[in-house]
Amino acid sequence: MNWPNSRLGRVLAKLEKQHGKLSAPKLDGPLEMILWEIVAYLADDAQRAAAFEALRKRVGLTPRQILKAPLKTLAEITRLGGSIAFEERAKRLHTAAELAMEEPGGDLRAVLNLPPQKAKKIFMRFPMIGEPGAEKILLFCGALDVLALESNGLRTLTRLGFGEDRKSYAATYKSVREVTLEELPGDSAMLQKAHLLLRQHGQEVCLRNQPLCHACAASADCAHFRSQA
Ligand code: SF4
Repeated sequence: MNWPNSRLGRVLAKLEKQHGKLSAPKLDGPLEMILWEIVAYLADDAQRAAAFEALRKRVGLTPRQILKAPLKTLAEITRLGGSIAFEERAKRLHTAAELAMEEPGGDLRAVLNLPPQKAKKIFMRFPMIGEPGAEKILLFCGALDVLALESNGLRTLTRLGFGEDRKSYAATYKSVREVTLEELPGDSAMLQKAHLLLRQHGQEVCLRNQPLCHACAASADCAHFRSQA
């Protein structure tokens, strides 16, 4: 797969050289993606995966299994994903399961067949799923071809000069979206890869405080770096 010959395409090619091949966690459908978000907070991928596997093994991943599980058990599991608000996150697992049960058979996959705007609104009802999270679910389930971004990817792109850092997260996200729609084609494999690379870059190099610009493959293309120099 070749990156497009746009400014963003060229930046992504450099980031791919820096970070290599990345893969998304193996999650089966929207509900697992939602549970993955809830089960941990401010945790790295390894800690999140450990908490998610504990949920799979000790409780199960269907809405019925989660609803049957005592909150105490769920809280022991969410604590593995970080100590912040672990009891609240256990309740959110129950809430997510209840919301999933509103769909036929408790299967959220049917939502993917709805028009994307409608599907997005349904996913945004779930705890810890805002608009970027809902778009990420749709992107990685192959139902929407737009570049969904989480906070690390969004920060990296705004520093690189794609879109603007505006007053609210939603406004910044929108401004970046307008640019990326023009810069990347609607190809879901490419957009998923771009999401993973930008996230990784933001987590490891383009850090929130004191980005490691000396170690950044895209520094020559970066508006923030030029302004600092
Ligand atoms: S040069 Fe620095 S600010 Fe720009 S993308 Fe790279 S790490 Fe981020």
